[in-house]
Amino acid sequence: MDASLRPQAPGSPAAPVAPGPAHHLIELSGVARRYRVGESIVSALERVDLAIEEGEFIVVLGPSGSGKTTLLNLIGALDSPTEGRIVVGGRDITGASRAELSAFRRRGVSFIFQTFNLFPGLSALENVQFGADVADRPGRDPHAPARMLERVGLGSRMAHFPHELSGGEQQRVAIARALATGNPVMLADEPTGELDFTTGVQILELLHDQTHTSGTAVLIVTHNREISRVADRVIELSSGRIVRDGAPSGGRVPVSDLRW
Ligand code: ADP
Ligand code: MG
Repeated sequence: MDASLRPQAPGSPAAPVAPGPAHHLIELSGVARRYRVGESIVSALERVDLAIEEGEFIVVLGPSGSGKTTLLNLIGALDSPTEGRIVVGGRDITGASRAELSAFRRRGVSFIFQTFNLFPGLSALENVQFGADVADRPGRDPHAPARMLERVGLGSRMAHFPHELSGGEQQRVAIARALATGNPVMLADEPTGELDFTTGVQILELLHDQTHTSGTAVLIVTHNREISRVADRVIELSSGRIVRDGAPSGGRVPVSDLRW
């Protein structure tokens, strides 16, 4: 984990001179994202206030067009807000330089996509190795990528290329690649969208495990309300606004209880 992205305890050497409350992992305050389309302004997100903590398993729920992908892209520094502030590990990244944002993308967040987005010419192991290479943490263990593949149940598939793997296996490689970065936040945009039910449940189980075993904060975007039942926390978007943020109604259920 990158210490600069962790919440700092007041009084630690890197803490501000006047100790304030401990920092959140990522905090958005008063965030809006608007697009100009011809003469009109399209509002993708408005008045978003949100703090993400270590180890949280968050489902971002909302219909198509409600602003889910926009929110994920802002948290991952792939996009900048029109208004408001985004603070990472106590540092405001809203006015950060392109170089600082690039460093944050390498060591702050990792992405998992609906369509897996593996490199077709690289083996499973090389794809995971790529994740570790991008983050390039000092003193990293060269055997970690192989261990990550074992952890997602693909120890016997290391030399396979993406086209030799099923959809569920490819998504597990993508998760191993995201984990191999060692980044504290994992962002997943509809990661089960292309998968059948049984495989989708396996993927959710795997992502949920990471919050406990690695302390990774996982944000899953979905329009499937059923998936939100397994979250610690559900953030619901409607027309670019957060309309709900809290535990799932009816309480959290185990992944094995899901039906869709
Ligand atoms: P979701 O992921 O929930 O389907 P998005 O975040 O992709 O929603 O989009 C939210 C709203 O912002 C939609 O109305 C969409 O049309 C609009 N939007 C997204 N990106 C752009 C863009 N580059 N230009 C104009 N409008 C956009
Ligand atoms: Mg989307």
